[in-house]
Amino acid sequence: HNEKEARSSFCFYNEDINKQIKDSLLLESDIRNALEKKEFFLTYQPKLNMATAEIEGVEALIRWQHPEHGIVSPINFIPAAEASGLILPLSEWVLDEACRQAKLWHTQGYKITTAVNISAGHFNNGKLLEDIDKTLKKYNLPAECLEIEITENMMMQNMDVIIPMLKALKARKVCISIDDFGTGYSSFAYLKSLPVDTLKIDRSFIKDLHHHKDDIHIVQAITNMAHKMGLKVVAEGVEEQEHCQQLCSIGCDVVQGYYISRPEKADNIQGLLDVAYISHLSI
Ligand code: C2E
Ligand code: MG
Ligand code: MG
Ligand code: MG
Repeated sequence: HNEKEARSSFCFYNEDINKQIKDSLLLESDIRNALEKKEFFLTYQPKLNMATAEIEGVEALIRWQHPEHGIVSPINFIPAAEASGLILPLSEWVLDEACRQAKLWHTQGYKITTAVNISAGHFNNGKLLEDIDKTLKKYNLPAECLEIEITENMMMQNMDVIIPMLKALKARKVCISIDDFGTGYSSFAYLKSLPVDTLKIDRSFIKDLHHHKDDIHIVQAITNMAHKMGLKVVAEGVEEQEHCQQLCSIGCDVVQGYYISRPEKADNIQGLLDVAYISHLSI
């Protein structure tokens, strides 16, 4: 871990412990137990619109406050949750908690969307729409305040199920993003038939942006295409000021990454929602 990573309380995971947890047969019952004991919590990572210099949304990212292992990364329990079927109660908890927080922000007058990562399990079991309707109603949250992120791979693997579902969500005005864009196998031809609002360009294209001309060309091409199709472009994994400058000249709309803010508990990003942020960051 470099110094930058070590500074964060939320993103500094102990790899050995996480590997141990991943390999553990106890994991399934652990997750069930953790749900009951309310050991999961959400962090939120802001998304900065470079044109308006405002935080226009946040992404909810789950964490597990493990009694022995400390904070456990989602990459080490989401797959196990998917495999065991516990992804459904976990996913429902994330949706509920994110909407509860989104309603608070909405009530306070913040014009932001709160994005939730939707797992394959939740999409495929047919309960997603019902859960979203139920939760929006429970908190009396306008659908425009909720965004869902689906990975490009998931989308492409389940097109038949997912397209009608996305259309139904779109009809409700829920925002839809394709996550990790560029790492999957989507044909551009499909994009025009998908009712999505936003492409989130995967971090792998961003991290060396200022050193690799090819990455610049890829990000430029994705951005041009997205704009022609009326889609918004978000760059994820923005860690350096140089990334921002490059992305700004490419015409990318929104940046998200450690340079703007780490994922933090809701209270800790409240300040960012209040300020016009660009001057502070000197982008
Ligand atoms: P993702 O949705 O693509 O989220 C982006 C990941 O990149 C997050 O990792 C975030 O903390 C990290 N990240 C953000 N900015 C930077 C940066 O500047 N540099 C670097 N190196 N990393 C950055 P995280 O929180 O560990 O989540 C990993 C993945 O786990 C997520 O990828 C998402 O697929 C999944 N996940 C997280 N929360 C949930 C959840 O509530 N439900 C589901 N189903 N999946 C989740
Ligand atoms: Mg995401
Ligand atoms: Mg992503
Ligand atoms: Mg990614």
